[in-house]
Amino acid sequence: MSETRQGNLSVNSENLLPIIKKWLYSEQDIFIRELVSNANDAIAKLRGLAGIGEAEIAEDEAFRIDVYTNRETGELRICDNGIGMTAEEVEKYINQVAFSGAKDFLEQYKDKSADAQIIGHFGLGFYSAFMAADLVTIDTLSFRPGAEAVRWQSGDSASFTMGPSDRETRGTCITLHMAEDSKEFLEYGKLHSVLLKYFRFLPYEVYLHDAAKPPKEGEEAPEEKPVNCEPLWNKKPSECTDEEYKQFYHEVFTDFSDPLLYVHLNIDYPFRLRGILYFPRMKNEMQNIEGEVKLYCNQVFVADNIKEVIPEYLLLLKGCIDCPDLPLNVSRSFLQSDATVQRISSHISKKVSDRLCSLFDKERETYCADWKDINPFVKFGCLRDEKFYERMKKALIFETIGGEFKTVDEYVEALPAKEAEGDRPAEKKVYYVTDPVQQAAYIDLFKEKGIAAVVLDQYIDNYFISFMESKTPGLRFMRIDSDLSDLSGEGGADVGAAEELFRGLEEGLKVRSETLSAGAMPAVILQSETTRRFREMSRMYGQDPSVFPAEEELVINSASPLIAALAGMAGDESRRADAELLAREIRDLAKLNQAPLTAEQMKEFTARTLSILSRIADQ
Ligand code: ADP
Repeated sequence: MSETRQGNLSVNSENLLPIIKKWLYSEQDIFIRELVSNANDAIAKLRGLAGIGEAEIAEDEAFRIDVYTNRETGELRICDNGIGMTAEEVEKYINQVAFSGAKDFLEQYKDKSADAQIIGHFGLGFYSAFMAADLVTIDTLSFRPGAEAVRWQSGDSASFTMGPSDRETRGTCITLHMAEDSKEFLEYGKLHSVLLKYFRFLPYEVYLHDAAKPPKEGEEAPEEKPVNCEPLWNKKPSECTDEEYKQFYHEVFTDFSDPLLYVHLNIDYPFRLRGILYFPRMKNEMQNIEGEVKLYCNQVFVADNIKEVIPEYLLLLKGCIDCPDLPLNVSRSFLQSDATVQRISSHISKKVSDRLCSLFDKERETYCADWKDINPFVKFGCLRDEKFYERMKKALIFETIGGEFKTVDEYVEALPAKEAEGDRPAEKKVYYVTDPVQQAAYIDLFKEKGIAAVVLDQYIDNYFISFMESKTPGLRFMRIDSDLSDLSGEGGADVGAAEELFRGLEEGLKVRSETLSAGAMPAVILQSETTRRFREMSRMYGQDPSVFPAEEELVINSASPLIAALAGMAGDESRRADAELLAREIRDLAKLNQAPLTAEQMKEFTARTLSILSRIADQ
């Protein structure tokens, strides 16, 4: 191009820029994503043309993208050695396509702010440079033989100048003179992290240079290392080692514990999908499980945790998924109803359940040992996805209070059944523990009688037990403190007087006696399973649980020598006061062994216990 000309862009962009800026406020780094993606595409295009004999490139051509930051001049430069553009192409692709593209895009989506997050990743292209720069320069030389280099420049996104450029090598350099409010992107560290976020797995090498700090005269330039690397998911699963999977996990998720297991996805038909999903190890039981599934499109990062594409329960995992066929430039609501998306989603879910089932079939011990970490994912999946449940059903595990692992089927099969009556199916009771420490006294009672119970101590178990009950007619889950009917025997002492004494302690206290063992607690609290579940549910939904008054009962143990003694004391007027003191103490111990006391109750219990201790000391 031999002379410089000026022009106005055909788009009335006065209002465009502020809207875009505001709209993409939360993702200011998007312009880097767009410009480096363009550079990547420019290389891919040239290679494509060379492949069909339309362009000539050297055999050992090293394609690369170079990003230069210079805090001193305030410039950020993105260069590629791709296809380049002729003056006509700049006219067409930049002056017309890029700008009208931005306009169309905005017109279509400006009122749909809810969808902004996902569309924000696509479609703005070259125009997004103006979000961060007050002057944008393109220097480009087309691959076409005899092409002349072109310089295009625009400062306000509405007018431009075009003329000759001194660029001598094929490809394109975009120079952004950064606006005052975007100078942070000139920081090497910041830029590095943005490049890593979006382009860690880009197909062509990306180099970052600090142009304000060139190597000094005589000093050797440090060895160049690209920001990106080949994603492990592109390798065939059979060629990846265990070590590689782990290392990839450590690096990408900066989690230095090893993952439990991984699923390598590698699909070509009916859609293309590659990726690796990891089951992370939970660090402690109280930890909230927060997954991180990164979605890529042709090795360019799109977004984290897009629940329209990945089944929600799998978002508890960590991993990368590259899916070139996804229509990601459309709205989220569209994604939800798109057939491909749904197929992808169910495919991922199938692969994950296959992997778990194969571990269950082939390495049962490892599977059971990992069950503590896996079970929230599996249970969540079963609740959310019927097909997932059907596939995982045989591999659901119960951990018993004795520390054994049994499949739910095995466990339920071995339970004694109560006869079926009329329409009612045979009833089987699964006793469960939600808190092995708090419920230790009950666990002892069950162990002593050899009655089975399982540990269900995850948040999700609350939902899971209702789900299991709905799936298996006749199956009832009973918390270990809700039913002692299988534990009580015959031949306890007559403790009617003690029952009366307890009833008199507090208004409305329900009291009954059962014959437990002599060494067991003198009294325990029983709480209705149904009401407790209602109360827990209302608490989870942020409602007032007192709508369902707790149905509690104090069960005194007629086999306990202490209770027998108390019954005797209760009838003896001279010992009545002590009997009452003991009864209160026994009641509080029962409460303490079922749930934490309130502050008032705790103070009263402590004061009373101290007075008893003082009395012993005074004797
Ligand atoms: P899109 O990339 O979605 O087509 P853009 O606005 O990002 O939209 O770019 C418009 C066009 O400008 C591209 O399609 C391409 O033809 C051209 N272009 C942009 N950047 C480059 C580049 N680095 N090298 C060659 N051509 C480019």
